Amino acid sequence: MVRAIRIHATGGPEVLRLDDVELPPPGPGEVRIRQRAIGLNFIDTYQRSGLYKLAALPAVLGMEGAGDVVAMGDGVADFSVGDRVAYGTELGGYAEARNIRADRIVPLPYVVSYETAAAMMLQGMTVRYLFRETFEVGPQTVMLFHAAAGGVGLIACQWAKALGATMIGTVGSPEKAELARAHGCTHVIDYRTENFVERVREITNGRGCDVVYDSIGRDTFPQSLDCLKPKGLWVSFGNASGPVPPFDLTQLKGSLYATRPSLMAYTATAQQLRANAADLFAHVAAERISIRVNQTYPLADAQRAHRDMEGRKTTGSSILVA
Ligand code: NDP
Repeated sequence: MVRAIRIHATGGPEVLRLDDVELPPPGPGEVRIRQRAIGLNFIDTYQRSGLYKLAALPAVLGMEGAGDVVAMGDGVADFSVGDRVAYGTELGGYAEARNIRADRIVPLPYVVSYETAAAMMLQGMTVRYLFRETFEVGPQTVMLFHAAAGGVGLIACQWAKALGATMIGTVGSPEKAELARAHGCTHVIDYRTENFVERVREITNGRGCDVVYDSIGRDTFPQSLDCLKPKGLWVSFGNASGPVPPFDLTQLKGSLYATRPSLMAYTATAQQLRANAADLFAHVAAERISIRVNQTYPLADAQRAHRDMEGRKTTGSSILVA
């Protein structure tokens, strides 16, 4: 038996329950991980609320973690008992231990702690694909990035700076503005007190941005489209305020591009997953990116963690420890 946070029905944070769960031996192609730290992500709240449908209930929430391999299923060649490993795309994370497919984990280099790995695998690999694959960010790039002081946001600030790009970040308080600036965000807009479309126009001298990264959804649509230059790319990658409503394609003003990417699709093969993680680890090892674990909760306090995330109280990354 292991302690795990499960949902038996979708709903508010109160549906998160600490259960004792039977853990069978790892199956063929799987390993068991004793988890040392567990990542918290906004996607966990979508799965809990039912915005994103899970295949079956009850379910152990959580997509991300880091720990040690403690048992092996048949046919696993790449890992051994005792290996330090991490992952960021597999449901079942909120637990002391779990089984997981070996082709969805990566070896964890010693320069990266379990806590850092659990805080960054999902969010860091997201920034990597957003900046290197969805759009090729470089020194000429001018981007708008919403929620710049969040988990994904603070990694984005540092990665954008490392690439030499101009990043305009939006945040929901003066404290968050300070944090984004300190992590390398070039221009910061407090979108609770300032009109971000007008500010983007001012900052870009009316030209608009090459790309807008929008994880807010309902509250920033369609204004995010007004921040783009002709032929610019709108990357809608999250729904912190609720989903983007269905819209008429003429709102793309005759030349804009729109995409709705996901980390799962960009790391669908083991090769893609490893290439992405290797680039992230290299940036962390070279100290171009440092991970802010600003909230740490005991596993049993998952409800409080979800309330803090949805209440916009968190900054940087958050983890659970079992
Ligand atoms: P964050 O730490 O960024 O938390 C979300 C932030 O969104 C809040 O802190 C808040 O910042 C902002 N926000 C704006 N409006 C609301 C609202 N109505 N309710 C709650 N928050 C709001 O979370 P993550 O770093 O975990 O994820 C950031 C976003 O990226 C999420 O939307 C997530 O779903 C998405 N994502 C998408 C992935 C993909 O592949 N498609 C992968 C990973 C993440 P502020 O107060 O500054 O506005």
